[in-house]
Amino acid sequence: MKIGFIGLGNMGGPMAANLAKAGHQVTGFDMADVSIGGVTMAASGPEAAAGADAVITMLPNGAILRLVAAEVIPAMTKGAAFIDCSTVDVDSARAVAEQAEAAGLLSVDAPVSGGIGGAAGGTLTFMAGGSADAFAAAEPLFAIMGQKAVHCGEAGAGQAAKICNNMILGVTMIATCEAFALADKLGLDRQKMFDVVSTSSGYSWTMNAYCPAPGVGPQSPADNSYQPGFAAELMLKDLGLSQQAAESADADTPMGELAMALYKRFVEEEDGKGMDFSAMLPRFEKRSRD
Ligand code: NAD
Repeated sequence: MKIGFIGLGNMGGPMAANLAKAGHQVTGFDMADVSIGGVTMAASGPEAAAGADAVITMLPNGAILRLVAAEVIPAMTKGAAFIDCSTVDVDSARAVAEQAEAAGLLSVDAPVSGGIGGAAGGTLTFMAGGSADAFAAAEPLFAIMGQKAVHCGEAGAGQAAKICNNMILGVTMIATCEAFALADKLGLDRQKMFDVVSTSSGYSWTMNAYCPAPGVGPQSPADNSYQPGFAAELMLKDLGLSQQAAESADADTPMGELAMALYKRFVEEEDGKGMDFSAMLPRFEKRSRD
């Protein structure tokens, strides 16, 4: 297949490389000067999209996605698929889908879970929104870049699933970190804390697979001085998206709101910027009750 790939950053770069490695003809564009093995670089988004069977975008946010889509959609061939894998707000995902469908394209919002390791290893999970035909067109590409793809519903459903998942992730990471900090103050050994919680009812992905305590559990960013991994500012962005969605859907999400406030303070006023989102643990360790 001929594939246009726009946004070749930490995630998009390895995803595009995996498509090229699988034998697809990939033409990429990024605002930054990047080069990716097996990918031919174009001078603009529309140039990368012209004549492609599918265009994939992996961009920082909804505002940028809207700008790129407005340029790229008119350059695409009718019947081709526009697949956005960025994490963006549900409203932007729906607006772009409407524009793509009006231009006779198949459209899928397909944010991912699995981080840069999953992008490099081709083991991402895709959560997709769009018509059955659009999902069917995108599925063979998801199978190369990932190991699981769930068709969540109509346009925007993929983004809805992603921001709900990441709201749980943010809340759970904070709960895991504050529990470790409390355990420290109660004199509990961290390895014992891990051994108990990871096999008891407090277990979670943040404890079992991404433990925020260095030297305990599987390798995680905590073992690498909290270098991301998944940066605290990206978690803040995602919690912002879930609060924005909760407001427009009139949903009560007090834990998500509190998690957003804590990550906002961590990133903007404390030393969280540039740190992994699990660096909440050293933050809690430093603090006392007030
Ligand atoms: P990144 O900043 O490394 O990559 C974004 C790329 O988009 C950059 O290379 C940038 O130059 C390019 N770009 C920006 N504006 C552009 C434009 N107008 N035209 C063309 N290119 C443009 O970010 P990333 O970590 O690759 O994340 C991309 C998306 O994936 C985000 O929406 C993020 O929330 C989501 N995501 C990231 C992770 C992760 O662990 N990094 C995990 C899941 C989802």
